Amino acid sequence: MADAKTKPKKSAKGGKTSKGGKNRGKAETLNFQAEMSRLLDIVAHSLYSEKDIFLRELISNSSDACDRLRHAALTEPDLAAGDADYRIAVTVDRQARTLSIADNGVGMNRDDLIANLGTIAKSGTAAFLDNLTGDARKDTSLIGQFGVGFYSAFMVADRVDVTTRRAGEDEAWLWSSDGKGSFTIAPAEREGRGTTVTVHLHDGEDGFLARDRLSGIVKRYSDHIPFPITLAESGGEAEQANTGAALWTRPKSEITEDQYREFYHHVAHMADDPWTTLHFHAEGVIDYRALLFVPSTRPFDLFQPERESRVKLYVKRVFITDHETGLVPPWLRFLRGIVDSEDLPLNVSREMLQDNPVTAKIRSGIVKRVLDDLENKAENEAEAFAAFWTSFGAVLKEGIYEGASERDRLVKLARFRSTASDGLVSLDDYIGRMKKGQDEIYYISGDDAESLAKSPQIEGFRAKGVEVLLLCDPVDDFWVPMVGVYETRPFKSVTRGGADLSKIEGGEKEDAPDDKTAAELAPLVAAMKLALGEQVKDVRTSDRLTDSAVCLVAGEGDMDIHLERILRAHKQLDQAAARILEINPKHALIKALGKAARADGKAAVVEDAAHLLLDQARLLEGEPVTDPTDFARRMSKVMTAGLG
Ligand code: ADP
Ligand code: MG
Repeated sequence: MADAKTKPKKSAKGGKTSKGGKNRGKAETLNFQAEMSRLLDIVAHSLYSEKDIFLRELISNSSDACDRLRHAALTEPDLAAGDADYRIAVTVDRQARTLSIADNGVGMNRDDLIANLGTIAKSGTAAFLDNLTGDARKDTSLIGQFGVGFYSAFMVADRVDVTTRRAGEDEAWLWSSDGKGSFTIAPAEREGRGTTVTVHLHDGEDGFLARDRLSGIVKRYSDHIPFPITLAESGGEAEQANTGAALWTRPKSEITEDQYREFYHHVAHMADDPWTTLHFHAEGVIDYRALLFVPSTRPFDLFQPERESRVKLYVKRVFITDHETGLVPPWLRFLRGIVDSEDLPLNVSREMLQDNPVTAKIRSGIVKRVLDDLENKAENEAEAFAAFWTSFGAVLKEGIYEGASERDRLVKLARFRSTASDGLVSLDDYIGRMKKGQDEIYYISGDDAESLAKSPQIEGFRAKGVEVLLLCDPVDDFWVPMVGVYETRPFKSVTRGGADLSKIEGGEKEDAPDDKTAAELAPLVAAMKLALGEQVKDVRTSDRLTDSAVCLVAGEGDMDIHLERILRAHKQLDQAAARILEINPKHALIKALGKAARADGKAAVVEDAAHLLLDQARLLEGEPVTDPTDFARRMSKVMTAGLG
């Protein structure tokens, strides 16, 4: 990956010098990180049909910059010295055909500029780069998810200039780029700290010079920004264009859905609509306001190992941090939004947050509100809830596994794919459909519901109309055995132990294997055991199969097959345990083999069949055959005999 920092080259068009500031010097030209160039290209050509959002992004950055300085000034008041009235000014210059967005926030120095405006410096960089496909349409939707922020200015601009000075430093810098592969940095002049972004509009974008249009855009997208945003023609009178109060401090009844949505886009850096919005004020022993959102799509970094929440902590309207706040448990980390506490001190540190009774109370308050809302949705808006569950169910299940005190509520909320329905079902649905004589909740776990639904192990259940839950999140293999029982009914994996289907009513009972067939197949079973030796734990007839000839199951006390595979994949386990090979007494092949074994228990065809059947069962399990050469040899032999 090209790193702008290490690849400065002499400026082609450079040579600009500052007009007599403290730091005279040449402009230097630096290349954007290679992937940045691609991103810029996509932004410029195909990103949004709504170009208006560039203004929202630049204002949002100014607001963040003011927030950051206000927070830093709590411990270092000198940083904001002389100017603690944070504000954002949008100025139009009709002659120059430019639009500039200026703030008195934290500003940037030279290194900041290179790191922030030369590379994709966000936490998702790696994920983003991995996911780029080269297909413009797919990449566009991907970038939508990551948010392009600052670079969206190139949708409307030929050139963007950023003049900035970092709070507490004397030098100012001018960053300038046409968004085509490189940018220049030169020393500059700026009165006071902060940043001014000047957008040189493309031909045909003069609409963005019209005051009414701009004020409409600010009202629509940036009304919630808690700093005044003024609008002016260069040299003219400035007028405030937004309400300028923190949205969460305003009464719910005065806030429109659009305003909530825009706030969500700003705070969550997400481009979708919120799936749900929770806005409340808790008063009493502790006093805090929360404005929280559940996104309607999965954030790209949901399964990063840190499992960090992104909910931002404010104390008395001042932004404190969005890292390690302890406000949200890891299993609710998909929540986005803010919490504003009246009780925490403004200078609260991360260490203080970790085991703080106020944080703990806020956290349990949030958990309660969120679960109340989810239960309500599960009850009254089943379809919407299913969509939510599809996105975030796997995260909530981590809470079950980790033994959250809300575990029982979470288990009740859990939804599953199942053999009984195309949609998602709950455990209560399942219990309501249990057959007479059935007292266990049957499930099978694997990588995806579609292939699980075709597993040989569930054929017998299907034939009897017994529902089987299809579990496809890796965490299922951990929480289900751990919870063990739901409302007195034990969970039971259909890939384990002897499933006694004969007790359960329904299906074609007369077909169940009886003592007679068992006796008839005894020589075959014995011959197969002999042929397979240590490769299997046992060979036995089974009533769990209808169409397939064979399947593998785990012994009663053994580890579930899918769990074992997960552990092996993560190198937590070196060796697979031997499995039980079950054969289907009703299958034509097994019947024929049974006959052959009764005639001659040592027949070569029986031995070959034993190996081939084991390999078949392994393939159905998604495992490789034991020995490919051996498999090919036996297969050819049996086929040749069949043709001969
Ligand atoms: P994001 O806002 O999601 O971090 P952006 O592309 O919008 O991404 O901005 C990139 C970075 O550039 C910001 O994180 C910030 O560090 C810096 N930046 C952009 N605009 C400003 C500004 N007005 N003041 C200070 N820093 C800024
Ligand atoms: Mg931004």
